[in-house]
Amino acid sequence: MGEIRTELPATRNAGLIFIGRIRTPWQDRKACPRQGRLDGPLCRIELADPWGRALDGIEVYDRLEVLYWLDRSRRDLLRQSPRDDGRTQGTFALRSPVRPNPIGTSIVRLVAREGATLLVQGLDCLDGTPLLDLKPDRSVFGPLAQAGVRAGSR
Ligand code: SAM
Repeated sequence: MGEIRTELPATRNAGLIFIGRIRTPWQDRKACPRQGRLDGPLCRIELADPWGRALDGIEVYDRLEVLYWLDRSRRDLLRQSPRDDGRTQGTFALRSPVRPNPIGTSIVRLVAREGATLLVQGLDCLDGTPLLDLKPDRSVFGPLAQAGVRAGSR
């Protein structure tokens, strides 16, 4: 009630590569947490061939940012009512899975690497959700020094 939908464009602007699948304990949305917790259940991020090699070096990080494709989501709402209670908000004011590009992100704790699989805690997606990307958590990367300015020279 009160939700506003739109027609989706006939053409798309980018092609994504699903680099693996995420295995979680959740088969349906009602069971799935709205946001993951770092003390949540162990989940598996399984990289597909050939992307396992691209994990080399990741073991040194305690926290990772995971990007995934919320593939069972509708994509056509401008305003939505996540709690289905008649109160609506704009899609971009929410972290709802219903969005034009249904990308989910979570910061997870890296527990272990087993070849092309990562064991992590902190996810909130359905079993089988396609994996888009993995990056070390940005909080360990400080801003780069301005070009030409050396520490202590100002
Ligand atoms: N942590 C991510 C974020 O903030 O970008 C996702 C948050 S979203 C609120 C998490 C919810 O998306 C889950 O509770 C579930 O209802 C839904 N969801 C999880 N996996 C999904 C999938 N593969 N397709 C569609 N909806 C999914």
